[in-house]
Amino acid sequence: MGEHMNNKIEIFDTTLRDGAQGEGVNFSVVDKLDIVSALDGLGVAYIEAGNPGSNQKDLAFFERAQGMRLKSARLVAFGSTTRRGVPPKHDQNCLSLLDANTECVAIFGKSWDMHVKQVLRAELGENLSMVEDTVRFFREAGKEVFFDAEHFFDGFKHNREYALKVLEAAARGGADCLVLCDTNGGCFPDRIYELTGRVCTLFQTRVGIHCHNDCGMAAAGSVMAVKAGACHVQGTLNGIGERCGNAALSTVIPNLQEKLGYACIPAGNMARLTETARAIAETTNLAPDAKAPFVGVSAFAHKGGMHIDGVSKISRSFEHVAPESVGNKRRFLTSEMSGRGAIMPILRKYAPNISKDSKEAAELAGILKKLEFEGYQYEAAEASFELVARRHLGHGRSFFDLISYRIINEQDNTSSALIKLRVDGKEEVTAADGSGPVHAMDRALRKALEMFYPNLKKMRLIDYKVRVLESRDATAARVRVLIQSTDGAEVWGTVGVSANIIDASWKALTDSIEYKLLKG
Ligand SMILES: [Zn+2]
Repeated sequence: MGEHMNNKIEIFDTTLRDGAQGEGVNFSVVDKLDIVSALDGLGVAYIEAGNPGSNQKDLAFFERAQGMRLKSARLVAFGSTTRRGVPPKHDQNCLSLLDANTECVAIFGKSWDMHVKQVLRAELGENLSMVEDTVRFFREAGKEVFFDAEHFFDGFKHNREYALKVLEAAARGGADCLVLCDTNGGCFPDRIYELTGRVCTLFQTRVGIHCHNDCGMAAAGSVMAVKAGACHVQGTLNGIGERCGNAALSTVIPNLQEKLGYACIPAGNMARLTETARAIAETTNLAPDAKAPFVGVSAFAHKGGMHIDGVSKISRSFEHVAPESVGNKRRFLTSEMSGRGAIMPILRKYAPNISKDSKEAAELAGILKKLEFEGYQYEAAEASFELVARRHLGHGRSFFDLISYRIINEQDNTSSALIKLRVDGKEEVTAADGSGPVHAMDRALRKALEMFYPNLKKMRLIDYKVRVLESRDATAARVRVLIQSTDGAEVWGTVGVSANIIDASWKALTDSIEYKLLKG
């Protein structure tokens, strides 16, 4: 590190604006307030929180947001340049932007001549005045103004002179930052580097970058823009956004800060990166991306026996950064392939001094083999394996015992579950309906347990997978059910195997609940 130690990079998160344009994403006002708090806690500089001109809900959000005390972030309202032939002070969208009452505004304007002529249907000169006048209007209203040059890279390719004229117009209007947007996400990182560098030498104004992931290179493009001199990076923490999404800031931030020595967020906050990404995924109601660099649940998951052996000796042998540095954790995936090395960390949680050659380790390795033969698989279900290990070591504390259950499937495809349990020495009987047997079971089980264990309310199932296993003999085929659950902070997997799908689901479901209760 070192050489860039004092180079401050402004992180501008647009989860609530560009991210909200992603497929399957829909935020309520309360969701938005939660996400603002999470991003502010991480220490980003700017949060673009909506488009008050085009969306009533966004205006309601900005009203509520005024009461928030933010530690580091400033809120940004987003909107377009004024309409053709209308001065900004008479343009309804510009006025709504003022109503949002934020310290900062982001104004997008066209920088590709084709768009000006054929989409906006304006004269090229007219668009330049619209850009300049709008930026000036907001500067005079005391706002910090980001000018988003939409389609800058495509515009430059087709008419470089005009694309630069648009930036000049924004600079003349007093823009605080010229943001170069790869709106269609089709520009390669080397080209982004070259053009960003060129703009940085031509203008005194701060330069920013806004990349989309249509070529899978949004994070790379953002990093290259910073290397070329941009000091402002726009993206969304989890990479959600139009089409293939925006640059994932959870990738860009640690690359810039941990690898290149730029300062994006306060150093002490880097360890919050993973939990913030998962909390936002939770609010967004999307399953967190397991393979996300740095913050994914698989980002530091080792499976091959040699890898596990290597990492156990020297972590950097198979890890490019330390998982703790970004608040993630190392996982050894338990499977026949990984050998005894993978089960040791789980054993040591309960018996710290146990060795690889101990009787317990040998026994547990034997149990694992046997269970895998029966069709269990713990690679994506380490919570279940941890419960197996605990029980084997005699630590199994039972939070509840099942006495019986009954599932009734109705003709309209709904199901009801009747469950009899013993909790805390008492017998509990509950019933619940659901949109299928597993849903009904989950609801009935929670009904019985939530009174005793209120923190189960935070937990929810995010994935349910069923796989029919090839039968090894003439008996009925077995099924394996894998369930993934989250409480917003952690994601864990559990597994159940049985000839009966309801029974297999029950096993995975109760393991998941037991694991959550064990975490406390
Ligand atoms: Zn965008």
